[in-house]
Amino acid sequence: MPQSYEIVDHKYDVIVVGAGGAGLRATLGMASAGLKTACISKVFPTRSHTVAAQGGIGASLGNMEEDNWKWHMYDTVKGADWLGDQDAIEYMCREAVPAIYELEHFGVPFSRTDEGKIYQRPFGGHMANFGEKPVQRACAAADRTGHAILHTLYQQSLKNDAEFFIEYFAFDLIMDDDGTCQGVLAWNLDDGKMHRFQAHMTVLATGGYGRAYFSATSAHTCTGDGNAMAARAGIPLQDQEFVQFHPTGIYGAGCLITEGARGEGGYLTNSKGERFMERYAPTAKDLASRDVVSRAMTLEIREGRGVGDHDDHIFLHLEHLGGEVLNKRLPGITETARIFSGIDATKEPLRVLPTVHYNMGGVPTNYRGEVIAPTADESDRVNPGLMAIGECASASVHGANRLGTNSLLDLVVFGRAAAIRAAELVKPGATFPPLNMASADKALARFDKVRHSSGEIPTAVIRDELQRVMQNNAAVFRTSEVLKEGVEKLDDVTAKMTDVKVHDRSLIWNSDLVETLELTNLVPNAVATMYSGEARHESRGAHAHEDYPDRDDKEWMKHSLAWIDENGGCKMTYRPVHEYTLTDEVEYIVPKARVY
Ligand SMILES: Cc1cc2nc3c(=O)[nH]c(=O)nc-3n(C[C@H](O)[C@H](O)[C@H](O)COP(=O)(O)OP(=O)(O)OC[C@H]3O[C@@H](n4cnc5c(N)ncnc54)[C@H](O)[C@@H]3O)c2cc1C
Repeated sequence: MPQSYEIVDHKYDVIVVGAGGAGLRATLGMASAGLKTACISKVFPTRSHTVAAQGGIGASLGNMEEDNWKWHMYDTVKGADWLGDQDAIEYMCREAVPAIYELEHFGVPFSRTDEGKIYQRPFGGHMANFGEKPVQRACAAADRTGHAILHTLYQQSLKNDAEFFIEYFAFDLIMDDDGTCQGVLAWNLDDGKMHRFQAHMTVLATGGYGRAYFSATSAHTCTGDGNAMAARAGIPLQDQEFVQFHPTGIYGAGCLITEGARGEGGYLTNSKGERFMERYAPTAKDLASRDVVSRAMTLEIREGRGVGDHDDHIFLHLEHLGGEVLNKRLPGITETARIFSGIDATKEPLRVLPTVHYNMGGVPTNYRGEVIAPTADESDRVNPGLMAIGECASASVHGANRLGTNSLLDLVVFGRAAAIRAAELVKPGATFPPLNMASADKALARFDKVRHSSGEIPTAVIRDELQRVMQNNAAVFRTSEVLKEGVEKLDDVTAKMTDVKVHDRSLIWNSDLVETLELTNLVPNAVATMYSGEARHESRGAHAHEDYPDRDDKEWMKHSLAWIDENGGCKMTYRPVHEYTLTDEVEYIVPKARVY
């Protein structure tokens, strides 16, 4: 073990890594169940990416018109293009209703209807009566829903005596020889000390890896750290070929314009002024699911009907809604449009382009948040001591394509489920087994090695190369040739990591080292995405493969598992999709063609 580090040891009943919506909902639930709970976050909790969520959180409250959780379940299964596990989807859509009322009672300041109920707006893919017509299901706090939820959950966690380790960078899991997770190692960015956290249950809630791409709506902190830690601990990454492109990122800047903008009546046009979505999705039109709208926009641009000097983007019209609606329902995006593109949304259309937004895949779990480590016989073995929730996890409720508002929902439903399960499994104050020092030392040795990287290539150069490969070779449309080239190029990037140069060796506020550690995490996420995409010979949800344009349920209705080895190689195996529901109250929804 490297001698130069000062180490601080901690023991907690449970440790949550991440203080976004998922991490905080779990932290709150675990602390209030009487478990000694620590929450570790590399940024201040309320700066987690959840704070940027705009449009809403889905639940069939039925405040505006009739709605039903079974319709929500149907929409989610269809949105997921039948790759979601239907037991988990049933759980999420059913539990959505109590989970939202809980949020309301915790103090989330939702927008209100005239009668004082939670306001709900239309959103892509949300339909009444099993796909018949759009329904208002997205519970919203104006266009700052994530902000409202995150601040409320942080305050409630503090009230329940959760302990926070803020601006601590977690870098590897501590695993026992039998595969049980024993905790995590973290670096305190402020004083340079190493912290060895031991727990009966460790929960990964580290968010997505949008920053593996050149243009993404996600925060710079979204580097897939938890997924990479799991991969290094021998756990496969599931369904990572499914990357969601949001139809309306601001052209050039990448910032998000919420789908709520179309929910409130906004629509898209091409250079001929046509509302082209009417051709692609006659019923849902601009509110079809995201993969459908992003593909339609990309096709319009490809066929020469894009707008602007280079015919390379699309118009989003909001000006007809008027200043009053924009100020009341969409104040944040009106401001974003002004700041990031100099456009007055009340007067002219916004310029938008499909932009990387969400990772459907991640660490495989069951509907209780427990990590699944598949065995050779394909059975779902629970990996003791480890959970994953939120965007870093794949439960799998989003399958091949996530519906808008189902992520915030996923955070609170599975954050809560993880807390319920942890309270069943962990006895407060139970004694700890001896810590596997070999595993902890190995993690520290890796950290030390990264810190002393003395190659020739700066971190930013390799990261830029990685992001461009992902942007070019794993985009909205893919072909065998492009994916194969992507795999080769990523192998080159992996090889270059042995030649990375960290020029600052300090242990205090060293952004060079943070960014290099993050790059070591982005690489396995990118590799899992590209290899899984190259291997999947069909089109499903967000994976649109031009050489295999149809969905192939016979061969490919299965979850991809990418196993990353120590040298950055990747091996694929598969596990079955759960073709069953959780209870007899609903029946398995049989696959059919996906039309909006
Ligand atoms: C701009 C934008 C708008 C969105 N709008 C919506 C919406 O309206 N509705 C919806 O349902 N979804 C929306 N989404 C998606 C949704 O917001 C995200 O999927 C969700 O917030 C992710 O939450 P999380 O808790 O999993 O992770 P995050 O909120 O990303 O939090 C991750 C946490 O992990 C911590 N962390 C990460 N790595 C480490 C490490 N190595 N060590 C210590 N801590 C670490 C971070 O500090 C942070 O606290 C939107 C996403 C974006 C980008």
